[in-house]
Amino acid sequence: SLRVDIQSGERKSLPDFKSEAFAASLARLIRARRQPNLRNVINATGIIIHTNLGRARLAPEALAAMQAVGGGYSNLEFDLDSGKRGSRYAHVDSLICDLTGAEAAIVVNNCAAAVLLSLMATAQGRKVIVSRGELIEIGGAFRLPDVIQQSGAILKEVGATNKTRASDFEQAIDDETAVLLKSHTSNFRIIGFTHAPRREDLASLACKSNTILMEDLGSGVLVDLSGYGLTDEPIVSDILKAGVDLVMFSGDKLLGGPQAGIIAGRADLVSRLKSHPLCRALRLDKLSLAALEATLRLYQEPNDPFQRIPVLQALAQSVEAVHARAVRLTNELTGAGLGDVMLAQSTAYVGGGALPQQGLESRAVSVSSPYFTADALAAALRAAVPPIVGLIRDDRFLLDARTISDEDIPAIIEAFRSVCGP
Ligand SMILES: *Cc1c(COP(=O)(O)O)cnc(C)c1O
Repeated sequence: SLRVDIQSGERKSLPDFKSEAFAASLARLIRARRQPNLRNVINATGIIIHTNLGRARLAPEALAAMQAVGGGYSNLEFDLDSGKRGSRYAHVDSLICDLTGAEAAIVVNNCAAAVLLSLMATAQGRKVIVSRGELIEIGGAFRLPDVIQQSGAILKEVGATNKTRASDFEQAIDDETAVLLKSHTSNFRIIGFTHAPRREDLASLACKSNTILMEDLGSGVLVDLSGYGLTDEPIVSDILKAGVDLVMFSGDKLLGGPQAGIIAGRADLVSRLKSHPLCRALRLDKLSLAALEATLRLYQEPNDPFQRIPVLQALAQSVEAVHARAVRLTNELTGAGLGDVMLAQSTAYVGGGALPQQGLESRAVSVSSPYFTADALAAALRAAVPPIVGLIRDDRFLLDARTISDEDIPAIIEAFRSVCGP
């Protein structure tokens, strides 16, 4: 490495091989190489469900369940009553039904798989009608029109970008139609002169025409978030009550569990999905299943999910609590003489393709250093152990306190010390 640096002209002379500083730099290199590639980072972005940072943090109960099931044998597909082969789905389906009011449910690898399986099993070679305003692309090039095509179904678009009515669906339904598909415009909003049909109206159309009403909900919430100022996210049980036959949602967005795709709704449709040949290829593994079951149980009485599930805790956290954490971090960084540090107003977001327009009031610690640009400081903190990922605003580095936990603070101080310290 030194030779490369000298040849490229980046370095002019050899270091003092006997110095403490050289030994320390070698030790740092060795430590860096021994770190796992996939590792924990501190999320100081203020985005609670950050898709690039692993989405939902799991509850301790979910982690314990993964540890127990992963470290031993389990009744994953074994019925302890009969002593015969059992179903892996049995561990969560009745919990999902209890929490959503669905007749039946099945879980697969993620919500994208849930949409694909639902369409393959019900609409292959037949038409799926979707509003032009809801032909979404979510991250990772998951585009609804492409997924419909890959499922073997034929997309029939109706309405306009901003306005679609139930009558547009009605006129498009023919003998070839299998599914009316609604999707949650989870990462954008069309505002102004808009209209989307009511679920109840689509449900009665589906019933009359013997087609299936499905909804790709993306980030499914099981509880009412309106008390926290978040009013745009529909609750799964309300969607089923409105007459939707099958609803699909993620396990690791607002639900706050592991990666999973949950499909809930009519029992006859769920059993068609269960017997589809590709169901096996999309199935959820035992660790995720263990974590999902434990997370779902935290929604059951007498638990308060807002106290127990990290995603919900982070969004329900009072601004006073966020403020107090930001003050503590500001004081500790200032006390250690680690740059020009001040408290700033900020806005946190739910993320994960949920509630794109609704910010959560938050506080951030804003840092600038006389020795670094904000970009250089951000890069140095990403290289720390553990890495810290924050925001840059007006050439200052910002740490949003809503997504930082109190336990992260010593590691943040240590990282700043190693980067900005004497
Ligand atoms: C996030 C999302 C998905 C995909 O969910 P994954 O669990 O990431 O596969 C599908 N549809 C919508 C509307 C989404 O928001």
